[in-house]
Amino acid sequence: MSAGKQKGKASAETWQRRRLRFYRTRVREIRGIAKALVSTKHPFLVHIIPMRRCNLDCGYCNEYDDVSKPVPLEEMKRRLDMLADMGTSIITISGGEPLMHPELDDVIRHIRKRGMIAGLITNGFFLNQERIERLNDAGLEHLQISIDNAAPDEVSKKSLKSLDGRLEMLSEWAEFQVNINSVLGSGVKNSEDALKIAHRALELGFTSTVGIIHDHDGQLKPLAPRDQEIFEEIMTLGKRSFSRFNQFQHNVAMGREHDWKCRAGSRYLYICEDGLVHWCSQQRGYPGIPLAEYTAEMRRREFLTHKSCAPMCTVSCVQQVAILDNWRGEQTMKPRVVGARKEELVQIGK
Ligand code: SF4
Ligand code: SF4
Repeated sequence: MSAGKQKGKASAETWQRRRLRFYRTRVREIRGIAKALVSTKHPFLVHIIPMRRCNLDCGYCNEYDDVSKPVPLEEMKRRLDMLADMGTSIITISGGEPLMHPELDDVIRHIRKRGMIAGLITNGFFLNQERIERLNDAGLEHLQISIDNAAPDEVSKKSLKSLDGRLEMLSEWAEFQVNINSVLGSGVKNSEDALKIAHRALELGFTSTVGIIHDHDGQLKPLAPRDQEIFEEIMTLGKRSFSRFNQFQHNVAMGREHDWKCRAGSRYLYICEDGLVHWCSQQRGYPGIPLAEYTAEMRRREFLTHKSCAPMCTVSCVQQVAILDNWRGEQTMKPRVVGARKEELVQIGK
């Protein structure tokens, strides 16, 4: 560390490298958006799972286990090559906890080598200076951490108190963009925590977003009046991030159904650890087809397939991707289950 440098503050060199990476990524994002506006034939965003295992066990989570093995690097590269060949613009690595994958840096390197934008969603518990520098070297461009509360409780340990030191390290060493996501809605004990988390994120130079959790019965209910105020404030604070393009989230906050065309299975893909394509993390099982067998014709069909879960969906990344195509024609096809047996389907939030 250079003399006189404050903890949690990036050096001038790191700051410059961060700005440069930011502008380069932004140019590639704009190119990706332009390409998606011209053609509907390729996925724009893909979430890929290199490891289902997680070091935590958040009470609300249905996306982890504590036994599974990492997907071998060569298999990850094979899947990434298929996605690159389809013309995918952005790959976000998710889990489980992807930092538990022993060859994650090489996975990120391969995404970049194939010309795609590389993002990572993590709980942040494995971050330290050395790990952040390795992520810099691998070419990571975006990282998101979701923080659920100010102090850990029986439901979630992803608290500001547990993670603040790691956030300072990110602020000091990361050359990639960092977004901190907080949550409001069902099961959130203290909504004021979301505001604290958002302000801390901005103080450290990150962007900030907020997600809304449904009741377990999946019904859309308006947030309480104070929660709505907090939601609007965080959305305003988050104006530097892409969340500003998401009008749907305002509808979710008000308990209103929204009218949009979900393009999951086409413009957005969720690839599980077994290499199967799913609509999204909340509708695992559809269409349940191995990526290697997922053809352009199947993507076209999903582009045109109406999703009955869309009016009350809270999956904001898929909603943001849909903005690229909401102006295009109606979805007239019905879902067709091809690759998964009915009893294997996991439908969450229905
Ligand atoms: S850290 Fe993320 S993946 Fe792990 S249990 Fe919590 S919500 Fe699930
Ligand atoms: S839950 Fe949302 S993102 Fe997933 S398939 Fe339904 S509408 Fe699309």
